[in-house]
Amino acid sequence: MAFEIHPLDLKFQNFPEAIAAFLVIGPGGPVLIETGPSSTLPTLQAELARFGLRPADVRDVLITHIHLDHGGAAGWWARQGARIHVHHIGAPHLIDPARLLASAQRIYGETMQTLWGDYLSSPAERVHALYDGDVIEAGGLKITAFDTPGHARHHLLYVLDGVAFTGDLAGIRISARPHTRLPTPPPEFELEAWLASVARAKAMKFDRLYLTHFGPVDDVTEQWEQVAALLTDCAERVRAELERGADRNTIVARYTAQEEARLAADGLSGEDLLRYASIGPMGMSVDGLMRYWRKKMERGV
Ligand SMILES: [Zn+2]
Repeated sequence: MAFEIHPLDLKFQNFPEAIAAFLVIGPGGPVLIETGPSSTLPTLQAELARFGLRPADVRDVLITHIHLDHGGAAGWWARQGARIHVHHIGAPHLIDPARLLASAQRIYGETMQTLWGDYLSSPAERVHALYDGDVIEAGGLKITAFDTPGHARHHLLYVLDGVAFTGDLAGIRISARPHTRLPTPPPEFELEAWLASVARAKAMKFDRLYLTHFGPVDDVTEQWEQVAALLTDCAERVRAELERGADRNTIVARYTAQEEARLAADGLSGEDLLRYASIGPMGMSVDGLMRYWRKKMERGV
């Protein structure tokens, strides 16, 4: 199958290479993977126009999960007539987004509108709910969806020949020097599920990964190993804090200091820190890790 893949930089909050959408041009036309948030729709449309494409030309839109940085503009695309392909657990939230928006509001508060823009519901008939192993025929291509929970229960990995679109599964890696951070938001972050998803993806031996944050990664095995090690490390750090009775503010401060030290050790600057934090705020990641451990401790495991 002949196809081209073009990462489109949505310039989220004017940061370069923070959030990508991917234009895949197949023999039967264009396919969009990830929409970005509604706030970046003008940039996305301008990027598509560089390829001579109008919104109505895009008939199929795939999102790895429904979080606003990945699928925030799905409803807008549905209303342009596109089919929206999404995990079956995420699908109902596109049609009735009340709970999704309430959850995002708890995380982002007053900055919600500025960051993400308006969120439109998707007409039910435009939403295609996916299950593990489902094959999507779009743009004259066959793209396979794999269930990859961990970051969220409704997270999918999309595979086209030897390349994978990883959503948040392979972490955030947006700087010139290799440095990975993990977004571990509430309410669905789950360590064991994410580790199992990474192991499954690693075994598929992809030639290249396309990270939504941001772009192609060719040292595929190293990236999966890095993500697995970081998952365990981030989770253990927060567990240790909870066991010594630290409160949330203390945990966020210490976690932030540890992440800043990791960044500096990889030779990165304050500007890089801001870009990483624009996608994965420290407080959000700590809240997800704390919630994960509290649920586990309540169950006594
Ligand atoms: Zn993300």
